[in-house]
Amino acid sequence: MLAASDNEAGARRRFRPCHRKLNAPKDFDRLNLKARNDAKPVLRIIPREQHTISRKNISKAALRVLYRLNEAGYTAYLVGGAVRDLLLGGHPKDFDVATSATPDEVKKLFRNCRLIGRRFRLAHVVYGNEIIEVATFRGTSEEEGEGDRHIVDGRIVRDNVWGTIEEDALRRDFRVNAMYYDISDFSVRDYVGGIQDLHDRVLRLIGDPTTRYREDPVRMLRAARLAAKLDFRIDPEASAPFSELGPLLSGVAPARLFDESLKMFLTGHGLKSFRMLEQCGLLKFMFPATARALKRGDKALRSLIEQGLQNTDERIHEGKSVTPAFLFAVLLWGEVRDLAHTWTTPGKDANEAWSRAAMHVVAEQCQRVAIPRRFTITMEEIWSLQPRFEQIQRKKVFRLLAHPRFRAAFDFLLLRAAESPAIGELGQWWAHAQQLPHETLAAALPLQQHGGSAGDTEPSARASAPRKRKRRRKPAGKSGTT
Ligand code: ATP
Ligand code: MG
Repeated sequence: MLAASDNEAGARRRFRPCHRKLNAPKDFDRLNLKARNDAKPVLRIIPREQHTISRKNISKAALRVLYRLNEAGYTAYLVGGAVRDLLLGGHPKDFDVATSATPDEVKKLFRNCRLIGRRFRLAHVVYGNEIIEVATFRGTSEEEGEGDRHIVDGRIVRDNVWGTIEEDALRRDFRVNAMYYDISDFSVRDYVGGIQDLHDRVLRLIGDPTTRYREDPVRMLRAARLAAKLDFRIDPEASAPFSELGPLLSGVAPARLFDESLKMFLTGHGLKSFRMLEQCGLLKFMFPATARALKRGDKALRSLIEQGLQNTDERIHEGKSVTPAFLFAVLLWGEVRDLAHTWTTPGKDANEAWSRAAMHVVAEQCQRVAIPRRFTITMEEIWSLQPRFEQIQRKKVFRLLAHPRFRAAFDFLLLRAAESPAIGELGQWWAHAQQLPHETLAAALPLQQHGGSAGDTEPSARASAPRKRKRRRKPAGKSGTT
């Protein structure tokens, strides 16, 4: 999709369709395409027999939308990531359609359609749990008053000027994302050299990189994410402005950055995306606390984050569920832990320091990436349960085992094994403890904690592994348990 989470507040906004013809030299100048000889648009049509896209690999819902629009006299193409991924032999995660029909016209054609977005108005056609995103061809005009495009300091804050397919291609971000599959003759239309880039496995921006990033800084994140996902390199011209323009990401709606971070870390390419973000110098603009903690040279933290991301990727590939809460808890752990240590007063209960640290880090992070409350609550629980793993005392152990967040907090503890051998041992202890019958575990646990106090900030495995209960004959006349 072209834009992420816009609300529907502007549903009644009026649009002036703009079906003017592409004024090639003018439009190409506007996007600074002249600056890049290789970006001059030359339509190349790749006939069916010269590419590998088969209708079998296109979702039935997308095909229905394409046929219905065509039958109604509109032009409609499969576009963007779906065409790119199909040409690469992959399975697209979503199918987007670009059409000459306006959103209102699309809505009239499909009963199962809702119009969304203010910044970028589009139609969602819904089939069961599949959503086909249908976007009207966007124009390239940047003049105020033409259609509904608003630009503030070079940034496109609203983009609802309709145009031709050629203009639409130029509005897209990367050349590999600007190819159109035509269901009427099964050809692929390539206006800006996307096929060449697919072949070269490179991400090149359409037009002048600085202009395009200023229009929408999220394109920098998309470069890193797509390079990781596709295993492509980023064209040096496209990566050159990252350090100068990265700070513009602070002006992007945090809700949109949350959506983007899910695409980055929860679609099976999390580890590669993370490395790519760091390599591009963009991590600090999205996760400042993570970047700061890593900058302190904490090797254990790096291995915790990398392992956490790798486990998440594996779970996704195995079709298992994953929660953003765990992932954000992993990314922000270093800063929470370090602050909690700093704020803990010796001899005092550390719980307060932990919750203050958690709240502080979450508040800072949410200014960048709006993590919904339901996830931040879970993150805070995962963190605050960590010191409780050290409290090897009967009542406390059973209370922790029964905690609704025990599983996530325990998985987190296992990740922390890299922090110190003692934490590794503690993880093993708890792994073993969970397998024991209640009775056996109870018998192996002291009523009081020996050494170490509740809420230690520096966990250490004081408990020895629980053993099978030894039958001991009770001394005559004594009752009670251990
Ligand atoms: P993915 O495989 O993650 O879905 P994608 O390229 O399909 O990658 P989408 O967010 O689904 O990403 O976007 C669909 C298409 O919309 C893109 O391929 C691109 O053509 C266009 N697009 C998306 N975001 C932008 C943007 N910020 N600026 C310009 N074009 C964009
Ligand atoms: Mg897509």
